[in-house]
Amino acid sequence: KGPDPDLVAIAERMATVKHKILILSGKGGVGKSTFSAQLSFALASLDFQVGLLDIDICGPSIPKMLGLEGQDIHQSNLGWSPIYVESNLGVMSVGFMLPNPDEAVIWRGPRKNGLIKQFLKDVHWGELDFLVVDAPPGTSDEHISIVQFLQATGIDGAIIVTTPQQVSLIDVRKEVSFCKKVGVEVLGVVENMSGLSQPLTDFKFMKAGEHGEQVDVTKAVLDCMREKAPELLELVAFTEVFDSSAGGAAEMCREMGVPFLGKVPLDPQLCKAAEEGRSCFEGQSCRVSAPVLRGMIEKL
Ligand code: ADP
Repeated sequence: KGPDPDLVAIAERMATVKHKILILSGKGGVGKSTFSAQLSFALASLDFQVGLLDIDICGPSIPKMLGLEGQDIHQSNLGWSPIYVESNLGVMSVGFMLPNPDEAVIWRGPRKNGLIKQFLKDVHWGELDFLVVDAPPGTSDEHISIVQFLQATGIDGAIIVTTPQQVSLIDVRKEVSFCKKVGVEVLGVVENMSGLSQPLTDFKFMKAGEHGEQVDVTKAVLDCMREKAPELLELVAFTEVFDSSAGGAAEMCREMGVPFLGKVPLDPQLCKAAEEGRSCFEGQSCRVSAPVLRGMIEKL
């Protein structure tokens, strides 16, 4: 039996991609897609040629975050063309292929695997420094396929995104052991939503009124600061949201012998930008991923 023609086609397609990084999470909703997008923007800002591939079939959120919903994919004789959000950042998502974003995708394994295969085979990325692959949450059949397809061409490794809560960390252990089993290097773990970081000027200050009602005193507080201690307006307040006494992801990484890449705080501006489809490299996004990114690039 000769080599699998699909794997050969994927290998040919991926021959122009230097680094392939898989972004994984144990659970949905921990910020895997947000991190994938921010990492891609941050790499693009360093002048790398970057591709962001979203293969989360049951919940592709990249098109919404980037304000690309309803975009049509164009096909040429070279393959499907990614949508460019920066001149050096192309995006492809299974979301572009689904007829109705509100409809649940209930597909069996083989059909999902077929689509993933097609995505790896048919997207015309051209020369890329990095392909960031936003995978579905968990460790299912799809993950085994993705890894198998990418391994045919060499994959740099996986970054696992988690929140600091125990429920999420337990699942990270499963992701780490999955990676070990299938032979994918864990480039590191990112602790997302790790505390709340907010400029003081973004806070709303409330006070109990005479009848127990909440009175907004924000303007008075900020005016007072502006007058008495304007330097306070520069402060960023940091709040530990989840119980971190057990050491969070950093401690778990130490135990499991995998690198800890860093913490990304909950950032209301980032969340708002994603909701409004304005995720981009301006504003908060760069600040959020820069320290995490440095650690990762050093590893590559
Ligand atoms: P996942 O891909 O793991 O399912 P998402 O990236 O879609 O998770 O994030 C889930 C929600 O949390 C989104 O509304 C997103 O904007 C928000 N979010 C993720 N990370 C952060 C963060 N660091 N600060 C604020 N909001 C965030």
